[in-house]
Amino acid sequence: MSYVTLPYPFKPVEAPPEYRGKPVVDPSKCIGCGACANACPPDAIRMEIDEAKGVKRLILDVSRCIRCARCEEVCPMGAVKLSREFELATPRKEDLVTVIELKLFRCRVCGKPTEFTVRQVEKAKSLARYLPKERFEEILESMTLCRDCRRSRYVSKLVEIEIRGYVGSMGGLHA
Ligand code: SF4
Ligand code: SF4
Repeated sequence: MSYVTLPYPFKPVEAPPEYRGKPVVDPSKCIGCGACANACPPDAIRMEIDEAKGVKRLILDVSRCIRCARCEEVCPMGAVKLSREFELATPRKEDLVTVIELKLFRCRVCGKPTEFTVRQVEKAKSLARYLPKERFEEILESMTLCRDCRRSRYVSKLVEIEIRGYVGSMGGLHA
């Protein structure tokens, strides 16, 4: 039998290579940085922190996706790609949602979860050679402390600077 038009849907059809289909996230590559969620115009990707479970979630809802490919452009790990999949019809909305859970790094002082994933911290460590030592240590210190410990660490530093400034303005400490 010959067809004037494509026999689809009676026979499968393959989308062309440039076709922008459903985005797919590779859980083995994702570090949970959230760059895709920040760039996604319709909020089809969002990030969620679950401190009780000690995980960060990437939630991708392809029913909201406009196939702009911003997520693919900004992902530093090449973890999200637009596939050529276009058949998404389903009676169950939850079929269109993908959830990826990544373990949160625990604060090195109090053990509470930080807002960074273990993979983000590992990635940051791997970039050490690209930054001046002091800057790298500053970033790592900030990533490996929870908000509360970071705040108290910074407050102590500020107090120390204030005291040093005050002592300096008094001409130093005299016995
Ligand atoms: S393709 Fe665009 S709309 Fe779809 S998830 Fe990626 S950034 Fe969001
Ligand atoms: S930008 Fe890439 S690595 Fe970062 S959260 Fe999105 S998929 Fe994961």
